[in-house]
Amino acid sequence: MGFSEKTVIVTGSGSGMGQAIAERFASKGAAVVCADIDDDAATQTAEKIEHDDGTSLALEVDVSSENEVKTMIERTVAEFGSLDVLHNNAGIPQQATPVEDVSETEWDQIISVNLKSAFLGVKYAVPHLRDGGGVVLNTASTAAIRPRTGLSAYVASKGGMVALTKQLAYELAPSIRVNAICPVATDTPMLSKFAGEDLSVASMRETIPLGRLAEPVDIAAAATFLASDDAEMITGTALEVDGGRDI
Ligand code: NAD
Repeated sequence: MGFSEKTVIVTGSGSGMGQAIAERFASKGAAVVCADIDDDAATQTAEKIEHDDGTSLALEVDVSSENEVKTMIERTVAEFGSLDVLHNNAGIPQQATPVEDVSETEWDQIISVNLKSAFLGVKYAVPHLRDGGGVVLNTASTAAIRPRTGLSAYVASKGGMVALTKQLAYELAPSIRVNAICPVATDTPMLSKFAGEDLSVASMRETIPLGRLAEPVDIAAAATFLASDDAEMITGTALEVDGGRDI
């Protein structure tokens, strides 16, 4: 499952699962572009990778901006000469809110950051990914499949991510594989930001039969598997990393 000679972009890699994903690809030999709207956080992840003898480049990118995403892809190819894996992972949570109280501004922001970002990334990455049989990964959520109270925009964005994944897998085959990862509640800084009636960490943990939250490394392991040749017959799937959650 080596990634030497491969170039990987991970968005949202300044924190949480993106950071773990970037570090795992780097530990397997990839040159990793750490892209995040938080420049300091992206730089910290890139510095950690280089400290561990990996190769990395930090980029400040707002994934909801077409110009910034286009520049991210161009700078990656200029720096490393190729692009092999694009992981659209950056996302923002929603504070649980009854649908009638969700503002249009909040709806648009969540859909832009969590869903439009993947369209933009793929749009500019495809010409480069086609060169070498590339892979796209999209971080969705178990929320795409099992809704929770008050998360209309978030759930719609993640459901859209799963649908987009299936569409792109069909459209870009056979040269590019596209898969989604659906994490259950994962122990990252985002988790406490959902804050809602049935969204306490304790109540989320109770719904997971394996008895614990996911850890960022669990999601990183799924990412490197789906991007590897071991998964060469897998495209258009939404892999649930959910500890068996079925409610
Ligand atoms: P996190 O908050 O720890 O990290 C998210 C990162 O994305 C941050 O570094 C943030 O700066 C960055 N980001 C936010 N907006 C951005 C933008 N516009 N452009 C570029 N970067 C931006 O969260 P996390 O838990 O690691 O979440 C990663 C992904 O996993 C998200 O898509 C999230 O929706 C999804 N997810 C999280 C959970 C969970 O329980 N934590 C569960 C399922 C899915």
